Amino acid sequence: MKVLLAEKCGFCPGVRSAIRTAEKVLAQAAGQQPVFSLGPIIHNPTEVNRLAAAGLITVESADQIDRGIVLIRSHGAAPAQVAALKAKGLTIIDATCVLVKRLQRIATDLEGSGYQVLIVGQPDHPEVQAVCGYLKRPIVVCTQGDLANVPLDKRLGIVSQTTLSPQRFASMVAAICKGSFTELKVVNTLCRESCKRQEAAVRLCKQVDVMFVLGGLQSANTRSLAELCRAHNPNTYHLEGIQDLDVDVLRGKTDAGVTAGASTPDSVIESFVDQLQQL
Ligand code: SF4
Repeated sequence: MKVLLAEKCGFCPGVRSAIRTAEKVLAQAAGQQPVFSLGPIIHNPTEVNRLAAAGLITVESADQIDRGIVLIRSHGAAPAQVAALKAKGLTIIDATCVLVKRLQRIATDLEGSGYQVLIVGQPDHPEVQAVCGYLKRPIVVCTQGDLANVPLDKRLGIVSQTTLSPQRFASMVAAICKGSFTELKVVNTLCRESCKRQEAAVRLCKQVDVMFVLGGLQSANTRSLAELCRAHNPNTYHLEGIQDLDVDVLRGKTDAGVTAGASTPDSVIESFVDQLQQL
């Protein structure tokens, strides 16, 4: 099987930095203090398990921690969560991605300037939930159907979850423009790194018989990549790694393309490409 790898794929700077921070904190704590991550540090089970073996304890809520060091992951955390951790006297290490911090700052400023903030994204995604925590009255829209719940007389300040595809954001903004809103202010909060991965994946999936998108099934940016590739190449499969590959999908195919989400470790990509080449 001829295997082509997307020009840009795998760990983004935000994820790389969060992992480096976790490794540094674990080394400094040296087993003397517990080190927690508020939610999985990234949406990739391989990497989460590797860091868990090194001592990182993943918890879902501040209630589960009463001592030690807490890492805020790249998706960020709501101010109320951070305040609850501080009130317990815990040491907080903030590994929120700078682009997520930018989104949080822009959303806060928009609300402060009198706009009704509208976040285009998945309401249950941790990044979106954290941003909502900065706002008094956020509205999250995921599909055009959700727009029916947005009051029409408002001045809207529109931002996006960082990992959304530009196409999805643009189509939502176009649908919003059809409403009778008094004023619209759109700020581009998409992550350029994520966009570059999407552009490279689309270019590649058009050249191959079968396309594999590697990454955690819960990873929003990996799911966006898979959704985009599937629109151009129906033989697209979202897998966490080589263990999920059904070799039947390779029957009659000669060229395979591989890309990976921003939270997929190099080791997963390399092992997948190596093994696929042997088939
Ligand atoms: S995908 Fe972009 S916004 Fe998200 S962590 Fe990576 S660099 Fe930051």
